[in-house]
Amino acid sequence: MLTQDSFKDLPWLTVSFNSPLSDVTYTKVGGPADVLSRPKNLSELTDLLRLARETHTPVTVLGNASNLVVRDGGIRGLVILTTSMTSVKFDGEGKVTAEAGCKLSDLTALAQKRSLTGFEFACGIPGSVGGAVFMNAGAYGCEIADIFHSATVVSPFGVVKKLYKAEMDFRYRHSVLQDENAILLDATFELAPGQAETIQAKMDDLMAQRRAKQPLEYPSCGSVFKRPKDADGNPIYVGPLIQKAGLQGHRIGGVEVSTKHAGFMVNVDHGTASDYEALIAYVIAQVYEQFGVTLEPEVKIIGSPATK
Ligand SMILES: Cc1cc2nc3c(=O)[nH]c(=O)nc-3n(C[C@H](O)[C@H](O)[C@H](O)COP(=O)(O)OP(=O)(O)OC[C@H]3O[C@@H](n4cnc5c(N)ncnc54)[C@H](O)[C@@H]3O)c2cc1C
Repeated sequence: MLTQDSFKDLPWLTVSFNSPLSDVTYTKVGGPADVLSRPKNLSELTDLLRLARETHTPVTVLGNASNLVVRDGGIRGLVILTTSMTSVKFDGEGKVTAEAGCKLSDLTALAQKRSLTGFEFACGIPGSVGGAVFMNAGAYGCEIADIFHSATVVSPFGVVKKLYKAEMDFRYRHSVLQDENAILLDATFELAPGQAETIQAKMDDLMAQRRAKQPLEYPSCGSVFKRPKDADGNPIYVGPLIQKAGLQGHRIGGVEVSTKHAGFMVNVDHGTASDYEALIAYVIAQVYEQFGVTLEPEVKIIGSPATK
């Protein structure tokens, strides 16, 4: 396992030990990471992966931590937060390459300033480029796959390779990154020329829709469940289903099914990851019992349970 000593020859790396992940997660829950580091570039990331390999330390990579429930016992080993890897390059011909930790809100604003259209849908998704590609994040009828060109990824063994769209296995809230142990370093997106004012107006409209419908005033992880399909393959909207089941406002510990948007679970009063897990299980059971529909979490539940 990594110890303080492991880093003595690499003093430029930012590292903390026993670091509470509730400080970085959008849900404000999660126990400590044994070791937490925020590499600033590929070279630092490669050093971290090498140290982890040499010390047989497990590695978990996180972006903006907006699609996670980290369990109360925290995460063993090394947690790498990409949030300091944020450089962005436009090629002048519609392509933009952004590092894994770049926030979608920043990237979509930069694209708007250059009159490039296609990224508007993502302006209110609070994720990073890495998390968004990993999840094939989407909103308002568009998803990352629609504008994705290619990505650079690194394996836990430090092997860097390029992946193109055809290799990404993009599906609803799925990419190949969920099946391989690869870490996304950067992604290139292909945008089209547009009008800056029209792009801004669309982003303003989508943000207004979010503010009106989503409980952005509370910690949450966004929509907790994936959208299931009915027997004819049509999507079933989860929020109205949970509402119909009478579960809106149902609370376990400090976590509640949002009264504003039933697809969200909000941390209203010092909730824990156990509260989230119990509420998720309760909603799944109730919706199945009442409608025969099986809900599957979209949110990633990771880490170790609390030790008593
Ligand atoms: C208020 C709110 C609204 C939201 N609205 C939407 C929405 O409209 N549409 C939508 O799709 N989602 C939405 N989300 C969920 C979330 O923002 C997205 O899934 C986002 O893409 C996650 O990015 P992240 O950087 O936060 O990922 P994280 O939560 O940090 O990580 C998610 C997963 O990605 C993996 N990952 C992260 N970075 C990398 C990397 N560099 N390489 C490999 N794996 C990586 C992690 O290991 C983890 O398994 C919302 C969340 C909130 C809180």
